[in-house]
Parts: sequence; structure tokens; C-alpha cells
Amino acid sequence: MAWTGDPVWLADVLRAEGVATVEYPGWRERGHGDFGNVWGVVAHHTGASGSPGPAMIANGISGLAGPLSQIHLARNGVATVVAVGVAWHAGQGAWPGLPTNNANFHTIGIEAENNGTEGWSAAQYWAYVKCCAAICRKLGYGADRVIGHKEWAGAAQGKWDPGGIDMNAFRRDIQNQINGGAKPVPPPPNQIDEMAKVAAGWIGARRTKGELKTPDGKGRYAEFERGYIYWHPDTGARPVPLNIFETWAGLGWEAGPLGYPTKHHAVVDKVGDIQAFQHGVIYRRYGQPGFWVHGVIGDSWFQRGAENSPLGWPTSNEYDYDGGKMQDFENDSLAWNPSGAVRITRKKD
Ligand SMILES: [Zn+2]
Repeated sequence: MAWTGDPVWLADVLRAEGVATVEYPGWRERGHGDFGNVWGVVAHHTGASGSPGPAMIANGISGLAGPLSQIHLARNGVATVVAVGVAWHAGQGAWPGLPTNNANFHTIGIEAENNGTEGWSAAQYWAYVKCCAAICRKLGYGADRVIGHKEWAGAAQGKWDPGGIDMNAFRRDIQNQINGGAKPVPPPPNQIDEMAKVAAGWIGARRTKGELKTPDGKGRYAEFERGYIYWHPDTGARPVPLNIFETWAGLGWEAGPLGYPTKHHAVVDKVGDIQAFQHGVIYRRYGQPGFWVHGVIGDSWFQRGAENSPLGWPTSNEYDYDGGKMQDFENDSLAWNPSGAVRITRKKD
């Protein structure tokens, strides 16, 4: 017997499914009228990162009275039940089994806080799966009763939410959850371990058991025979060969002016190594000290052809010169002054 009437059980079934659930004050009285039969779920993203929060979903926005959905799902996976009655979330659209342009009276809306392009944290994604599974389980339906707003209203309104979620994969995950597959959340693959496989051809044996925290507490690293692998949430994991590492270490590692590595190093065969970091690029010829280029002088050198230009490789870092900066290269120097001009000068000996 299909459920009819308001889903008064919403908070209970979410909790039973293992979702951290908050009951927004007054949710049992909130709605634009009562449900008849509940067909299923329409999944949304809010369209902004960090907003709107549950209060706005409950109370509405200028020109559209709340509730705007029954459930708000935060980035950290906490679900807030804000309404038991009908909410204005679906608008015009069509889907087999639902009356055209009238999904609001037959579906439970979930607004997940996400701008649609920023990706989904494991916590939020799996909470989303569990919320949908909990509702389908209570209604006695399968995951085919969960549709995206983009499926309902992609044609009618050009909706694209929830962005970044393949609805068929999402329904497979929901169905697994309904089937009692209640799999533990798979941990994301360890990126340093993955990079160690990629770099296996040159980086040699691992010396660090597991990985170590960088002093800033944000990054991780592991030492290998011929280099290191550094990971930071903004850059991912990158290997740094010893030749580059020595120069980087001399500049204070990730806490220095360069920050974390952002790319693999490039090898200029039998000549040297080049590697980009967050705030500059290290160049080091084999058997010589390495130096870094950045900023206006770096831009000027790159535009001239970098190490292939007549200037050649850097032979110093930037240093103060005549109220501005200077950097030496193999054949000449580049001088910058506060007017913004960069010019080639005879290399000082
Ligand atoms: Zn939507």
C-alpha cells in the first residue's frame, strides 16, 4: 500500500538510515498544503556553496515563499528536515509517472548545498544516497523513484541540478543502499600511494612508512630513494626528484616562497630538471645549483623563450638591484624597476 499524506516520518527514516539529521523548528507544520500520494524524490543542488542554509529553504526567498524543499543537505552531510508539507522545488517539467508540471504535490525535494561544479565530498554524496534510499525504502519503491531536477525540468526550464552527479550512477548507489548493501563508505584512494605507482620507474624504494604531515598540518609527504612525493588538497600529489628537492629545501620547502609542487618535473635530457610550484618554477642544471623564477622577471624570461632564449638558464635567484630587482642568467641578466619595465642588462661578473 503506497504511502499517502504528508511524510511525517522523514526525520525518523533519515536517522534510521544513518544520516546525521536535524529537525528544523516547526517542520511538522510547514508546507504549501498537504501531500496526496508521494511518488518519489527530486534531487537538487542549491546553486551556491555555503548558501542558502536550512533557514532560507524553510522560509523562502524574495518572490518565492518557503518551504523550497523538505530537506536541506549540507556540505558536511548533515540533513535538516525543514517541512512536512508540499514545497516549491520542482516547477514545470515532465517525467513518466508524474503529472506534467505538478511534481511538487507528489515528490519530496532535497536541496543539497553545492554550486554544481565544486564536486561532492564523500560525506555529502553518501548522505545524499542514504536520504534518497531511506525515503524509497519507506515508500516501498526502488531507486527509479529518484530523479534529478535536470531530468524533470531540463527541457522545460533548462535546469542542470544536481550538477556533477550522473543520475544513473546515483540511482545505482541508492539501489545498493536500499538492498541493504549498506557498504561502508569507500575511502578515497591515497594519492601519494597512487603517485608512487606512477613514479615507480625512477623514484626508487620508499623510505617513509605511510606518510608524514607537513609542518603546516595541511599537506602530506613521503620520502623515496630518489625523491619525495608531496600532497596538498589544492595541488594533489606530485613527485619531486632529489635534484629539484635540494633547491626547494634550501628555500624552505612548502613553507618557503614557492609553496607546494603543482606539476611533475620536466627532464631536459642530460641537462637538468624543471618543476613548477604554486608560486614559481625551479630550474636546475645537473651538477650545478638550482634557482627559481617567478613574477615579472620570470614572465619576461618565459616570453623570451625561457631556458631556450639567448639568456639561458638562471644562475641566481632574484636579488635587490637599484631600487628594483635583478636576476642573472647564463648569458645576461634581467633587471626590473618599480616603473614595471624589465630590460636585459649585461650580466655582472
Ligand atoms: Zn533544483
